[in-house]
Amino acid sequence: MVFDIKPHEREIFRLIEQSAIELGYEVYVVGGYVRDRLLGMPSKDMDIVCLGSGIKLAQEVAGALRPIPRVTVYSRFGTAMIKHGDMEIEFVGARKESYRFDSRKPTVEEGSLEDDQNRRDFTINALAVSLNERNFGEIIDPFGGLHHLEEKLIKTPLEPGKTFSDDPLRMMRAIRFSTQLLFKIDPGTLSAISKYKNRINIVSQERISTELQKIVLSDTPSIGFKLLFKTGLLQIIFPEMANLQGVEIRDGRGHKDNFYHTLEVLDNLSKHSKNLWLRWAAILHDIAKPATKRYNPDHGWTFHGHEALGAAMVPRIFKNLKLPLDGKMKYVQKMVRLHLRPISLTKDNITDSAIRRLLFDAGDDIDDLMMLCEADITSKNPNRVNKYRSNYELVRQKLKEVEEKDRIRNWQPPISGELIMETFGISPSREVGMIKTAIREAILDGDIENSYEAAYQYMIEKGNEFGLKTVV
Ligand code: ATP
Repeated sequence: MVFDIKPHEREIFRLIEQSAIELGYEVYVVGGYVRDRLLGMPSKDMDIVCLGSGIKLAQEVAGALRPIPRVTVYSRFGTAMIKHGDMEIEFVGARKESYRFDSRKPTVEEGSLEDDQNRRDFTINALAVSLNERNFGEIIDPFGGLHHLEEKLIKTPLEPGKTFSDDPLRMMRAIRFSTQLLFKIDPGTLSAISKYKNRINIVSQERISTELQKIVLSDTPSIGFKLLFKTGLLQIIFPEMANLQGVEIRDGRGHKDNFYHTLEVLDNLSKHSKNLWLRWAAILHDIAKPATKRYNPDHGWTFHGHEALGAAMVPRIFKNLKLPLDGKMKYVQKMVRLHLRPISLTKDNITDSAIRRLLFDAGDDIDDLMMLCEADITSKNPNRVNKYRSNYELVRQKLKEVEEKDRIRNWQPPISGELIMETFGISPSREVGMIKTAIREAILDGDIENSYEAAYQYMIEKGNEFGLKTVV
């Protein structure tokens, strides 16, 4: 079969062909670029394999382009990259790989195109397009990758056990591609993942997490998480999440399965938001349910405090998964901590002060929090769903009103600790903190107006209550 070369590709392909002829090399486009183009998806990363030196070929191609692009050489890997328009083109010599048991880093030697295709992870990633004169544009498909693209199938080119044992990262990649492309994993390939799951331990956490993030960012992340669970990988790489699975029954009463509930929330949210960290908040919102689960014959199953304990678990989970420990982690923590707050506001208690408190605590993240809470409605009972939805509608409406009136989002109480110390001539002490808190609470409760004058007056009153006298 011949590759349908687009006009914008023809020029660069011909130029690569000419450069390879100059050097006496054979040359091919391979891997993800070919796959994505055959799937009708745009791709900006092109991998070129030659029978010769990838670095020399990159230099030859760069010399023929105008303006001449910079060649970035990675001599340790024997590869080189040039940017051409919005494309990144990587050049490498065809290679043959052999693996040792304790490492996913192979010993590499020069090889043929066939060797190079053999070392690829999946048949759909092992397709090559010839850029050679004798068969320019021909697709070289030794493992039925074209057929598998049509069948929407992820399958290893060689025996799957060997493929995964050699480089266990490929197990994560199989599940990631299946999630992104909505492809099935071939049964033999899937059972090899279950069998070799423990090999994942030789892969660095960074690489595992890169794949995990791609799963989280896909349109329907639950597909990937279900596969990770089914193969047993999740239990190894993210045990806290795997622990959510299961239903316990006592006195004939069960609770919902928090793993599948979490995945529903994550998919719901993913329909509305591409925010990676909000998606992490969905993954983690109920993470402390197993640890807080109690059974009480009168009340049934309870998970009291799971939002606070969940928030407290976030830093360790982020650290283990090597996710950033900066503001993004804090944001996820905050979402987990606050995720029950909007639902605790029922028709009777959506008071201005409750709304002000929510706005104060959530700040600019209030819209994200509301989105998470709405995604959290997974009840199968339509009456209950309607009830929750209309309640949230009311909360949103109230949030808007209170925000317009009080501007409490990103609000800082108008009286600082310094001013309190100056006014009463005191040094840092417990009283300063108590007066500050009392002012903030009075404003949030609506007992005093949100203004400097009202807060100043209130500060004097509170100070007097503590036996303090003004000195200015
Ligand atoms: P994406 O760009 O979505 O990550 P991709 O397939 O283009 O997908 P790359 O990581 O750029 O991913 O890899 C390019 C090609 O290199 C793949 O298509 C595959 O042929 C090969 N490859 C990458 N990683 C592996 C691996 N761990 N084992 C075997 N082959 C691999």
